[in-house]
Amino acid sequence: MAPKRPVDSAVDEVRKALDPIMQRFSPDYWRDQDAARTFPTEFFDTIGAAGYFGTFIPEAYGGAEAGARVASVLVEQINRAGGDAASINAQMAICRTLVLHGTEEQKQRYLPGVASGEVRFLTVAATEPDSGANMKELASTARRDGDHWVLNASKVMISFATHTRLMILLARAEEGTTLFLLDLDEVADGIEMHPIDMVAHRMTSSLFIDELRVPDSTRVGPPGEGLSCLMKGFVIRRVLAASEAIGNARFLLDQSIEYAKTRKTFGEVIGVNQGIQYPLVQAYSRVEAAALMRSDVLDLVDAGEDAVPRSAMAKVLASEAAWETTRAAMTTFGGWALASEYHVERKLREGTVYVFNNLLMNLIADRALGLPKKD
Ligand SMILES: Cc1cc2nc3c(=O)[nH]c(=O)nc-3n(C[C@H](O)[C@H](O)[C@H](O)COP(=O)(O)OP(=O)(O)OC[C@H]3O[C@@H](n4cnc5c(N)ncnc54)[C@H](O)[C@@H]3O)c2cc1C
Repeated sequence: MAPKRPVDSAVDEVRKALDPIMQRFSPDYWRDQDAARTFPTEFFDTIGAAGYFGTFIPEAYGGAEAGARVASVLVEQINRAGGDAASINAQMAICRTLVLHGTEEQKQRYLPGVASGEVRFLTVAATEPDSGANMKELASTARRDGDHWVLNASKVMISFATHTRLMILLARAEEGTTLFLLDLDEVADGIEMHPIDMVAHRMTSSLFIDELRVPDSTRVGPPGEGLSCLMKGFVIRRVLAASEAIGNARFLLDQSIEYAKTRKTFGEVIGVNQGIQYPLVQAYSRVEAAALMRSDVLDLVDAGEDAVPRSAMAKVLASEAAWETTRAAMTTFGGWALASEYHVERKLREGTVYVFNNLLMNLIADRALGLPKKD
């Protein structure tokens, strides 16, 4: 038997706590949330009550500081049970920007509420209509005005913007990119939001800010270092995205294997056919490989070593493995893959969110292969 690794005991512990919760929030709960396009409030509050939102928050601010391994297992297991961990992932990970770069006053004011789930901190507003993936060319501005800033911004595809209380906004000041922590309880009137309807239920919006005055105490990190502060959180965001994709893939594999063993056509179960078996075998092998890469990244994070290129690889491998698993699940379920009752079509739509990997491949080309970079 293979030796028990730290990840196995984290899996055991989180599973034990999560299993009864996921029995309550079955795949049908998620299908209904998806159909009604609602925020999964009851589930979110249940995970908050279980203490997981403080996974990256130091104990001094009400957190548990359980770390990346626990967060990664948690989001994987939620998705593996047919759920959608996007809001949980956001609440656990986005506050790291505040943990790493916030002032003492910001941390004391907000982190305990984020850890308990009372304060939703689900949103980073970075992407813009014109510059898209290129966050170095922001049109949104932050203009100094005494001990205040005046913000003008246009952002698109911003997840959970209409469901969060706290939001990190990236804008360009004279010194360069700069982060601001917006408390929507205080500034919601200054932000216009328009939900964007997407194939996956991701609750994204475009938002517009016109001459919003905020105090300097809302700034996070030094002026001019917004993008680099934000990027310090990207290793964890990638490992959690990879874990969500692995969870989705494992859910689809579980469902497909069960279906292949029970669905009969031409007098025998469909699972005897190599045309059904091989796509599942290929998908399973790729998911296992991606999961090993994800474990490797977690080891690097635990050891405090550079995990940037491998976290990008884990995200690329996991999202592609999950995409291939969806295809295998569709072959297994045939026409029923498209009916909402089997959850394959929902996971197909949710899987689209993870497959944009070009910029990560640019990063791997540069950091792992040393290939020349474009200016
Ligand atoms: C479901 C969902 C949720 C999102 N949530 C958020 C959020 O919460 N906050 C936020 O700020 N943003 C969010 N985004 C936006 C996301 O970050 C952007 O989609 C991304 O930055 C790319 O911008 P774009 O879609 O305008 O594509 P573009 O920048 O127009 O790019 C189009 C295509 O070209 C590729 N491409 C562009 N430049 C290069 C290059 N140099 N090399 C190779 N390929 C390139 C891109 O990878 C992409 O495939 C979300 C998007 C989605 C779909």
